[in-house]
Amino acid sequence: MQNLKNKLKHPIFQCISQTSERLGIDAYVVGGFVRDIFLLRDNHDIDIVVLGNGIDFALAVAEQLGIAAKNVAYFKNYGTAMFHYKGAEIEFVGARKESYSHHSRNPHVEAGSLQDDQNRRDFTINAMAISLMPDSYGELIDPFHGLEDIKSKTIRTPLDPEITFSDDPLRIMRAIRFATQLHFSVHSDTFSGMQRAAHRIDIISKERIVEELNKILLSSKPSIGFLLMDKCDILPRILPWIAQLKGVEVIDGHGHKEIFYHTMEVTDKVAMHTNNLWLIWAALLHDVGKPATKKYVKDIGWTFHQHEYIGSKMVVKIFRSLKLPLNEKMDYVKKLVALHLRPIALVEDEVTDSAVRRLLFDAGDDIDDLMLLCEADITSKQQAKVIRYLHNFEIVREKLKEIEEKDRIRNFQPPISGELIMQTFNLPPCQEVGTIKNAIREAILDGIIENQYEPSYQFMLKEAEKLGLTPKK
Ligand code: ATP
Ligand code: MG
Repeated sequence: MQNLKNKLKHPIFQCISQTSERLGIDAYVVGGFVRDIFLLRDNHDIDIVVLGNGIDFALAVAEQLGIAAKNVAYFKNYGTAMFHYKGAEIEFVGARKESYSHHSRNPHVEAGSLQDDQNRRDFTINAMAISLMPDSYGELIDPFHGLEDIKSKTIRTPLDPEITFSDDPLRIMRAIRFATQLHFSVHSDTFSGMQRAAHRIDIISKERIVEELNKILLSSKPSIGFLLMDKCDILPRILPWIAQLKGVEVIDGHGHKEIFYHTMEVTDKVAMHTNNLWLIWAALLHDVGKPATKKYVKDIGWTFHQHEYIGSKMVVKIFRSLKLPLNEKMDYVKKLVALHLRPIALVEDEVTDSAVRRLLFDAGDDIDDLMLLCEADITSKQQAKVIRYLHNFEIVREKLKEIEEKDRIRNFQPPISGELIMQTFNLPPCQEVGTIKNAIREAILDGIIENQYEPSYQFMLKEAEKLGLTPKK
């Protein structure tokens, strides 16, 4: 039997051990914390299972540590209690036995043994416990050989997979999420259970699904998770817009690029370079407008006219449907999807100062994120083409830098305000003010005048004259 005493470094463990002896209640650390000892991952979430009342036990430990009872959060309904201590979040629960009904992932719960509690856990790697009682302190209790599965990098359910996943289909997403985060494979029997229970995912709330999706997107290689979601047929149920990217249509012998795999490549590349969840969402959704805009045009081939525009409109629908935040994060994703072709269009055409200025103006502070997305979007089977594009992309980057230094367009504030226009020509708020303001902005973006007060003022006078306005004396 393996002893893990020296892995229980946090002072809470000794304290729990003493409380366990004093109260005569068995206590164990279980789940993710134990798993992460072997994966050498830092984990500050410590889950404690006791053979008794979890809340009473937590209050006793807190008292011993001098933590006021008011700082222990507990949920009578769930029999759980939690407090923070020296950088860790420690949660206590009584060991339990669960039974499920068909309509809900919320089980009927009753008190049980440690073995019952380990049985109800999702995967063998998450079902290990370490004893905290003084006479067996540090002993690993691993009835399902979770340690072997860690060594062979395997996700496997402790009990019958079909029942496990049907009882709580969120576990399908958790299996895929762990496989993605840890680069583990799902055992074939476990995977069959996932496939058979896939239709049950509909009973899970969007919020919980998105929580797992976000963890997948923040992994080093999100495509692992998306390919598994596709393989077990859960993808069309939770992300139909992404499932619709699959496949290649052929007309007159001409096929188009496979958009799903392309999207995976782009998402992986972006995820490799950033921890910005919303930028990774933008990568996932950048081509989501393609199926709706796909058209085969004779002598030209496949076109996806305005897919960036349709796609950015779809972002709103997708965010709403997934209960993702409908706030500035969504606006950011919308904007990146809408603009994702702009930098590459510069690569294809001649890079003019005014096109670069317009891009800076439209992207604002998000220009670097847009450039990352756009560069990741350059994928092709023809290596020479990729190299040529990436080279031209460097030219665009340099140009952006040069123009930004010169003109400071990124956070563009027009040098002439609407108020100044009204004052100068003695105008109330009216259409003419807007017309003059726009004309000044366009002239600056086109490089006709410099982004400074004096030339803008002179330009304003000329524009006003065209409208028959004269400055007040
Ligand atoms: P993370 O690193 O994301 O926190 P975790 O394994 O610690 O991973 P938690 O959601 O914190 O995940 O859950 C703690 C433990 O509770 C898990 O290790 C597992 O034993 C158990 N568990 C959590 N969710 C489920 C579930 N849906 N079904 C069965 N057991 C679960
Ligand atoms: Mg955890």
